[in-house]
Amino acid sequence: MPRIKNLQLTQSNQSPQLTASTATTYPIVETFHSIQGEGAWFGSSAYFIRLGGCDVKCWFCDTKESWDASSHPRQTVTDLVRQVEKAKPAIVVITGGEPLMHDLRPITKALQKLDVRVHLETSGAHPLSGEFDWITLSPKTFKPPVANIYIHIHELKVVVAKQQDLGWAERQADLVPTTAIKYLQPEWNSVNANKLIFDYVRQNSQWRMSLQTHKLLGVR
Ligand code: SF4
Repeated sequence: MPRIKNLQLTQSNQSPQLTASTATTYPIVETFHSIQGEGAWFGSSAYFIRLGGCDVKCWFCDTKESWDASSHPRQTVTDLVRQVEKAKPAIVVITGGEPLMHDLRPITKALQKLDVRVHLETSGAHPLSGEFDWITLSPKTFKPPVANIYIHIHELKVVVAKQQDLGWAERQADLVPTTAIKYLQPEWNSVNANKLIFDYVRQNSQWRMSLQTHKLLGVR
């Protein structure tokens, strides 16, 4: 099956036409081809697009360099789509930072024309924009999700560092669709989090434990 489903090509050089939409730029912290290390799509070939900008400011954030969007060079939708075409992943993961600080309609519209799934990882702290095949919500107490995002969620992933986080997780689980897969993920540096989740999941079977397997593997 061809990778490109419907991308417009010029007659002269077969490059994607630059439109108002594809000329849109985003601040890019990094792009890289890896495997999805977390959640239901664990193990899948994934191309990550990490956008700059986040106003949630979690103390445990492992991408603090992403917070200031202005410190990252901007790339066009056309550039990003070309990278994805070259990498040929199974999924593209738009992440951050908090990607919903940006209008994601131009990038998702372009990516949806490729033979690739388009996934979003978000805290939900800003309104949803764009079209996605899969949305992972990782809600944070520091800036809770906007109310109308919950209905769109396929996967809930709550970071747990301490006992009280389990109560927050349950309150968030009440708000997502019943079909959403529910994960508890240990905060990487919290020594008790693994056991806390291990014990909780055994007693509460609607939850699954999510591990950051890319970190265990020593890859991005
Ligand atoms: S929402 Fe994500 S990127 Fe933003 S501070 Fe929290 S962990 Fe970091």
